Amino acid sequence: MGNPSIQEQLKTISALLPQHEDLQDSLKIQKKILQIQLEIDNTPTKGTTINWNDQTTIITLQQKSFEAKKPIIHFLDQSIFDLEALFPISKKIVYVFIEQNINEKGLKKLLDFMENEKINLFNLIEATLRENIIFIRKIAEKLDVQPALLLYIVSVLIQPCVEEIARKIDSSLLGKWWQASCPVCGRIPIIAKLRHRKRYLACVFCGTEYLSDRFFCVHCENKDPYTLKYLSIEAKPAFQIDFCTKCKHYIKVIDEAKLKETIPKGLEDILTLNLDYVAKNANLIRD
Ligand SMILES: [Zn+2]
Ligand SMILES: [Zn+2]
Repeated sequence: MGNPSIQEQLKTISALLPQHEDLQDSLKIQKKILQIQLEIDNTPTKGTTINWNDQTTIITLQQKSFEAKKPIIHFLDQSIFDLEALFPISKKIVYVFIEQNINEKGLKKLLDFMENEKINLFNLIEATLRENIIFIRKIAEKLDVQPALLLYIVSVLIQPCVEEIARKIDSSLLGKWWQASCPVCGRIPIIAKLRHRKRYLACVFCGTEYLSDRFFCVHCENKDPYTLKYLSIEAKPAFQIDFCTKCKHYIKVIDEAKLKETIPKGLEDILTLNLDYVAKNANLIRD
């Protein structure tokens, strides 16, 4: 369960790069991010002060999560993150985007604010763990950076730890979650998979896959089959776009039995970017 190690994800992405002319930009950025995350992933603590090989930590987190019906990430304290290790890594991530000329001015301001302690990385990590979008938006506005980009940069820092938890939780619990958001990281999935006549929601951030109703909109929790429709993709029978006529959101669906070649875990979203164009043309909303 969970995503493969960062080392394995890097190997996969390097092999895929020459095959996907159309996705070069997205794959190259992803590869650079993985290379940076490798530094965190090569340690048993995954950027924290916790040894994740100790199964009792995972068991306790799982219990809390299932009792409160809240994702595990809500029970991680920001103080477990090792700022001394993560601070230089956060700078490297920011540079990946500066090199791409993405939000250059705002990102340089972010670096400057972090260096001069005008922004506290702990607070940003805390906001990311608690999904405190209001705080992220407030800081993003101050920097003139897109909130989604700021959230992404901080998320990259905590991802190796969250992926490790996803690898280690008891997978039997994933059949009993029945919620839209990921039981580990709390994110709303953009990918669903059909496997053995069942529908699973697949979190591309941490790699968790959990059972879902066949008719279920992850955005508004609509379960009425008459208002949940799908778009099929010409010449690609393994893919469809499930959408909700009530809230207009969609999810990309992969029918595993119809796939010609498997889609590597962690890359499902990037490798189905063409479906997002189809959805956009149909006036559907992603986030
Ligand atoms: Zn997740
Ligand atoms: Zn909906």
